[in-house]
Amino acid sequence: MNCPNCQAVIPDKLLQCSRCGASVALTVATADGQMLGPYSVHAVQRFLADGRLSLTSSASLAGGAWRPLPEVLAGLGAATGPAPQVRRRASRAPAIIVTLVCAFLVVGAAIVIWLCVLARRSPYDGQWSGDGGGARVTFRVRYGQVNSFSIEGPEGTHDIDFGPRRPAISEEGAFGYTDGDLILGGTFTSKTEAEGVYTRTGESLPWTARRE
Ligand SMILES: [Zn+2]
Repeated sequence: MNCPNCQAVIPDKLLQCSRCGASVALTVATADGQMLGPYSVHAVQRFLADGRLSLTSSASLAGGAWRPLPEVLAGLGAATGPAPQVRRRASRAPAIIVTLVCAFLVVGAAIVIWLCVLARRSPYDGQWSGDGGGARVTFRVRYGQVNSFSIEGPEGTHDIDFGPRRPAISEEGAFGYTDGDLILGGTFTSKTEAEGVYTRTGESLPWTARRE
């Protein structure tokens, strides 16, 4: 309960505020005119619970004005009866259900994301390297797309920048890319072997590569 004088939170069993000393005693007048008390808030709550007092009674706090008992108790921040303990226990079951449902949703979402990542993978994903007429050919496949392709020859290195047009590998295991006079084609003959042709300025260079 709250002390009406200093607002301190004090035990319901007190007749005097433990902080400021103000009286918090209740005198009760029943509907048939009986005067009872003084009582602590705790005692009034107990009498209400066992039927010795009724909510139709009036009460005076510390000898003050007579007001309806429920109003006086509410003014002290006190309940008009003991807190029902059954309700508190009952609310735990839905909390467990909510926790379980949340856990299932999190696990379910994780599985969906994992399946999506797996679905985007292709059997050719990885780093590949090989040879094309004496030049070293290297490329990388990720999620079924050719990410990078480079030809390292005696005349220098040519890195093909696909930009956003990364060639996708078809169901038959083939891919193609053209950009001006550059034509690149390839076929995966197995999960570890690929071959193709690289054409630039009219010169064609066949290449073969293996997965690293
Ligand atoms: Zn006080």
